[in-house]
Amino acid sequence: MYTYNNILIAVDLSDDSTTVVQRAMALGGENGATPHIIHVIEPLSFAYGGDIPMDFSGIQDEIHQQASQQLQRFGEANAIPESNQHIVLGRPEVEIHALAKELEADVIVVGSHGRYGLALLMGSTANGVLHGATCDVLAVRVGR
Ligand code: AMP
Repeated sequence: MYTYNNILIAVDLSDDSTTVVQRAMALGGENGATPHIIHVIEPLSFAYGGDIPMDFSGIQDEIHQQASQQLQRFGEANAIPESNQHIVLGRPEVEIHALAKELEADVIVVGSHGRYGLALLMGSTANGVLHGATCDVLAVRVGR
């Protein structure tokens, strides 16, 4: 049976993240794979930059610090060493693809919500990650 060696797991740090990591770990089979986790922080300026004349750097630093602590706790709880925990600023799809390439990941694992109506039209991170990925992608159904 084919097993993966280098697994990149995208986590939004919601409660669903544990489910996503557990499914990802199972992909490594008995030999165990090297798991990496990534959390991407979207700069506030992406959302508000053009509209509100305000300096976001203080709030952005605070968000970064809190997310880093959360990711560290999450990594610890799931036996993923600090060297394999990645926190990056940018657009989730773009940064996930970039790190997958850098790490030569053979699979990216993301959570996927069942969507309908307007949310479906707006798309999801799982969709964005699938398009343009140069390795396998596993979308784990979450939020049921
Ligand atoms: P969505 O349906 O767009 O909310 O995204 C669901 C899944 O996308 C999550 O379970 C994660 O795997 C991934 N994801 C969403 N946001 C982020 C983020 N900021 N950083 C890393 N992964 C994310």
